[in-house]
Amino acid sequence: MLYTSTRDKSVRVPSAQAIVQGISKDGGLFVPTEIPKIDAGFIEALVPLDYISRAKKVLSLYLTDFTEEEIEMCVNGAYKDGKFSSKSVVPLVRYNENADILELWRGPTCAFKDVALQLLPYLLTVSVKKTVDGKTIVILVATSGDTGKAALEGFKNVPGTKIMVFYPNDGVSPMQKLQMATQEGDNVCVCAINGNFDDAQNGVKAIFTDKAVAERLDKNNMMFSSANSINWGRLVPQIVYYISAYCDLVAKGRIKNSDEINIVVPTGNFGNILAAYYAKRMGLPVRKLVCASNSNNVLTDFIKTGTYDKNRRFYLTTSPSMDILISSNLERLLFHLTGEDDETVRRLMSALSEDGKYTVDESVLSQLSEIFDAGFCDDKAAADTINKTFKNGYLLDTHTAVAVNVYDAYVQRTGDRTPTVIASTANPYKFSAAVLKAVAGDKAAEGLDEFEQVSRLIELTKVPCPPQLADLKSKKKRFEKCCDKRDMADAVYEMLGI
Ligand SMILES: *Cc1c(COP(=O)(O)O)cnc(C)c1O
Repeated sequence: MLYTSTRDKSVRVPSAQAIVQGISKDGGLFVPTEIPKIDAGFIEALVPLDYISRAKKVLSLYLTDFTEEEIEMCVNGAYKDGKFSSKSVVPLVRYNENADILELWRGPTCAFKDVALQLLPYLLTVSVKKTVDGKTIVILVATSGDTGKAALEGFKNVPGTKIMVFYPNDGVSPMQKLQMATQEGDNVCVCAINGNFDDAQNGVKAIFTDKAVAERLDKNNMMFSSANSINWGRLVPQIVYYISAYCDLVAKGRIKNSDEINIVVPTGNFGNILAAYYAKRMGLPVRKLVCASNSNNVLTDFIKTGTYDKNRRFYLTTSPSMDILISSNLERLLFHLTGEDDETVRRLMSALSEDGKYTVDESVLSQLSEIFDAGFCDDKAAADTINKTFKNGYLLDTHTAVAVNVYDAYVQRTGDRTPTVIASTANPYKFSAAVLKAVAGDKAAEGLDEFEQVSRLIELTKVPCPPQLADLKSKKKRFEKCCDKRDMADAVYEMLGI
């Protein structure tokens, strides 16, 4: 299987090169030239297997330039005992008679990004061996919170790699800041910058594309790669869990093999829901993909009208990982829905960068409405959903609450009782202040620091806090540096010792 670029169909590279490069030279994203097919027999064979064995089978359909031993080594390394707090890695928990919550946050940083970012470093080191053997890979990340920490945990002490994370000094939650400041590992570095997330992101992009920086790295036998969600190596691990969740529903007797399901995903950059789209295209029996957004509802409008328009107010919400107006991975969907028309994708993407908007044609719009449904809710509605769902015995985080709210509204509107999987993307203690207020009223978090809020939430809900969050309080801070935007390249040199 080969990979091509959404902006230039003449590109043909094996998966290892797509993973090492991260993004195609023409600015497009790597996509598989054909989508592998699975059938009921494939699912039946997966049902009795554990997550690791299922992952091997699914990944080997996409990473055809990897040997079986290589895939085995990668998957074992990422998901072996103890890395995830559930034996099934991504357990299903019942929400109601029709729907199950898929807990994707059982990894080391308590966010769903762990599922991909625990595996990516292994995929990347194998890919490096196949393409640019001997080079040290330098991962640069700009983060608004969750990605940085998950990438640090994934890459810590991975031989042949170094990772440096930049975050906006005033743009992440206290818990997220502490998670990064206390990061362990001898190949990691974290630096705050004076500025907002866009400053961090633009700074990282500028370093990435600076020829002088690249030459200096090259002289030292190093090269940059990326760990953000446009890397194919981050998307492909996410396809696994939708197929695995389907198998679990069959195993539990909730559905029969070949029955249709719906999948609801709280969405930001469109990576997680795109993985579900690939699973559907592979042949997993999926009826609707429901795209859930917060007040930054650019995707809701797009799926309903065919017009993507980022020229709108930007809201800071209680689900910050979904506060996004440009969903990068949508480009891959456009490529597939236009019949792999790279010219149209180029036109739409240049309209997006010039005017901040574009409109797709009738054919794409009708496919969008066929495959997807979409909805959004604001912070108040998400808080009400947390409150109500907690009274029924389950504590949601703010992102998953958006998905549950949108799902409930979808069922009300359509009467669709198809068995449903709702992707749960974070542990509630990562967003203690908002969750505490949702459960106990707006005044409940007043005057309490991050850890007092955690304690109060434990007291009130009796839901245990994952040790990796609770233990942060007593951990030593290693990284407290804050630099100016223009000094970011120097910070990188300093970290690399070059
Ligand atoms: C990153 C993130 C999302 C959004 O996922 P996308 O793949 O960017 O759509 C949702 N919830 C949480 C908690 C996240 O960290």
